Amino acid sequence: MNIIFTYFHHRFLSKMKLFETIRATREHIDFLTNQHLTIGFVPTMGALHQGHLSLVQRAVQENNRVAVSIFVNPIQFNNPSDLENYPRNLEADLKLLEPLLSDDDFIFAPTVTEMYPKAETRLFDFGSIAEVMEGRYRPGHFNGVGVVVNKLLRIVEPAAAYFGEKDFQQLAIIRQLATMEQLPVKIIPCPIIREPDGLAMSSRNVRLTPDHRQAAPLIFQTLLDAAKRTGTDSPDQLKQYIGATLNQTKLLEVEYVEFSDEVTLESVQNWTTSRNIRCFIAVQAGDVRLIDNIRISVPAK
Ligand code: AMP
Repeated sequence: MNIIFTYFHHRFLSKMKLFETIRATREHIDFLTNQHLTIGFVPTMGALHQGHLSLVQRAVQENNRVAVSIFVNPIQFNNPSDLENYPRNLEADLKLLEPLLSDDDFIFAPTVTEMYPKAETRLFDFGSIAEVMEGRYRPGHFNGVGVVVNKLLRIVEPAAAYFGEKDFQQLAIIRQLATMEQLPVKIIPCPIIREPDGLAMSSRNVRLTPDHRQAAPLIFQTLLDAAKRTGTDSPDQLKQYIGATLNQTKLLEVEYVEFSDEVTLESVQNWTTSRNIRCFIAVQAGDVRLIDNIRISVPAK
């Protein structure tokens, strides 16, 4: 039997499928492609929230069928306690997906041994985009992302794959991966979904203490503030401002803040270096590491 189980929440309403093995997934994909149905794919690590669901909704709109993967990829974690504490709740994830997915849409939730039957040795060379920001502070992270996304895209063979701008640098890495590996997939960027107070949604937010949760919206507020000051302040001045404002709270500690070109991810020294600038930030909030970014409108000359 190739279907592990068909998830009936509201009986007869939705029959989305859940697969644990690559073989069962491939059989289902062959069944779909034989009917010339296109697949939109949303890779996730589970602990789903509205950010993930916005990607799924977009995939539903733009494709005949949708695949969502739920896999906490151990090789992209540079910090063992982050991997251990990463929230996992498949039942809750299925409940969130059930109203969005329909017959023949599917969830691929493999085990670690299914994805890594032997130790992984592959090393990608993503060049300079993998060396800055997240790449610099999380050694090995993007290689782990590259390995798993490459495997998943080869298993699912989607026409389009959806990624959030929350992980903007990851999106750049995946575009590069698709080019390097000549994968016939459209990579679709999706906007950041935020809590009403501005905090970027993240699976890790549930691990914030009440104090850190209360302090965390200051990250986005400060980025918004900084974005309004590009007419008077240089990138360096704004980096100082953001760092000082956030570190002042004691509950937040800025790891890096950068103004960078959206394509090369190279840091900019002044507003005329690039027309497409984003501000990127990583902040430690107690035990939880948060990232965010915001597009910067460059002042007219
Ligand atoms: P993750 O489960 O954290 O690996 O995320 C899976 C996908 O959801 C990635 O493409 C993320 O960029 C995206 N994502 C996570 N949080 C958000 C958010 N707040 N808004 C939009 N996309 C998000």
